[in-house]
Amino acid sequence: MSSDEDLTPKTETQLIAAIYERAQARKRERVAGAPEVGIFWVVDGKAVILGEPLSEAESWGEFKNYSQGHDREWSRFLQRNGIVPRDSEYDDYPRGRVVYNTITGSFNLFADKCILKDKSMVQKVLAELHLPSQTTTESDPHYKCQKCGG
Ligand SMILES: [Zn+2]
Repeated sequence: MSSDEDLTPKTETQLIAAIYERAQARKRERVAGAPEVGIFWVVDGKAVILGEPLSEAESWGEFKNYSQGHDREWSRFLQRNGIVPRDSEYDDYPRGRVVYNTITGSFNLFADKCILKDKSMVQKVLAELHLPSQTTTESDPHYKCQKCGG
C-alpha cells in the first residue's frame, strides 16, 4: 500500500466498508435518539428508509431537508447495493419525505396517500427516524404512485 493512495473506495470490499462506516456514523446519532429528516419508499410492502441527522441536512428556506433527492439515492445507493430492484425507477414505488420546519420546530412527514392509509407503515417510518409523536403527516401531489391514479 503506497502512502499517496487516495481514499476513494475502489473495490467492492472497500465500497461495503464505506457504506458500513456511513451506517455506523448514523447509528451513533440514532443511539443518542436524535430525530432525523429522511426520504423513504415502500417497496413490495417493505419500508426503505434513509435518514440523516439535522446537522447533515440541507436548508431549503425555513426547512431542513434530506440532502439528496429520491432519484439519486435510488440509483447511486439503493440499486447499486442491491437493496431495491435494479430494473426499476425511483418513482415506480410509493414514496415520501420527512422535513424539519425551523420556524415551528416541528417535523412534517409528506407521503403518497397509499402510505398514509397504512398506519403501521407510518409508525415504522416515525420510529426509525426517532420522530416525536407531534410529527404531522400530509399527502403531497408530488408523491402519487400509479396505483393512486397518478
Ligand atoms: Zn400510491
